[in-house]
Amino acid sequence: MNIIMEFRDLKKQYQILKTELDSVMQEVAASGGYIMGNAVAELEQQLSDYVGVKYCMTCANGTDALTLALKTLGIGKGDAVFVPDFTFFSSAEVVALEGATPVFVDVNPSTFNIDLNSLKAAIEQVCNDSKLRAKAVIAVDLFGLPADYPQITAIARQHGLFIIEDGAQGFGGRIGDRKSCSFGDISTTSFFPAKPLGCYGDGGAVFTNNEEWAETIRSLRVHGKGHNKYDNIRIGLNSRLDTIQAAILQVKLNTFKEHEFDAVNHVAAQYTRLINNALGDAITTPNIPEGHMSSWAQYTLQLTDASQRSELQSHMKEAGIPTMVYYPTPMSMQTAFKGLHIFVDTPNARQLSQCVLSLPMHPYLTDKDIQMIVDALVANIKTGK
Ligand SMILES: *Cc1c(COP(=O)(O)O)cnc(C)c1O
Repeated sequence: MNIIMEFRDLKKQYQILKTELDSVMQEVAASGGYIMGNAVAELEQQLSDYVGVKYCMTCANGTDALTLALKTLGIGKGDAVFVPDFTFFSSAEVVALEGATPVFVDVNPSTFNIDLNSLKAAIEQVCNDSKLRAKAVIAVDLFGLPADYPQITAIARQHGLFIIEDGAQGFGGRIGDRKSCSFGDISTTSFFPAKPLGCYGDGGAVFTNNEEWAETIRSLRVHGKGHNKYDNIRIGLNSRLDTIQAAILQVKLNTFKEHEFDAVNHVAAQYTRLINNALGDAITTPNIPEGHMSSWAQYTLQLTDASQRSELQSHMKEAGIPTMVYYPTPMSMQTAFKGLHIFVDTPNARQLSQCVLSLPMHPYLTDKDIQMIVDALVANIKTGK
């Protein structure tokens, strides 16, 4: 049988926003201001207002956003940066690219985010018996849920660590009335098409309340420019957001604020209610801690093991429903990190990589779609009962 729905339906979103999107894309094309046109500064203002942070600097992608953060904080050779073992590759890749050392930390299986006890243990290990300087923690808002920043901040302050929030999947998420991308000393996000707020290509942004760092990031993203464009005062990157992507994001940010964030939360609530009613303890639905809100970059279930998962995944595919495994391999087991010193064991990351399965998730899933997905799940899961 053919796949009858998209895992994340970007074409449906385009159909709904087509008139507005086509018009702003044509405006940029006609304006000639393809690089650093007006839409870029306008978008940066709208993003910083929404997130509640003083400065927003857009850039070419979410990976560069992390690199800009690390360079700004002066992180490099001899520095240890604590990174969750269960995340997208970028979160750790950027650390190694700057010549610093990623120290992998286990995650909490109930939130998928960095585990506080494992973080404390890893910091202690690095401080007591290594030649590395403990410098920063990159906390990731995995699948849209902000990490436990009140606690992470307390731990980081105690050890003089910078906090970088990797909000690539977290944009729109909240703790109380504070939003994702406001929790780090420097926070970052990605506008890759499938992220909660996506453009039509690559894009990213960096957020901070620190004026000096904001100035450094603006310089670094344009080859380390000084006040005079041809006087380069540091080694930087070519990492600007295209004007056309900024114009697209202005339209999409409005819909995100007015409709999409609520819509994905409705989808998630429906999934959780229907799945828990039908399957109870036989499957683990996502847990959102009190006072937190997720932007649902993914809706991720935990199954018993890898064989139950692969069997279910192929039955779902036969029923026309796409599912994905984010992520099948912990960072510490990636080929590129072979030989890297392991400071703390990460059993939860290993276990999750074997049992997680993400269902279709986007703001334009209908109640009928959701019911069909849950019916297929219930019909095909082998619970051993
Ligand atoms: C997508 C992602 C990134 C990288 O963003 P790009 O725009 O693809 O470079 C970084 N961290 C996490 C957690 C991500 O999901």
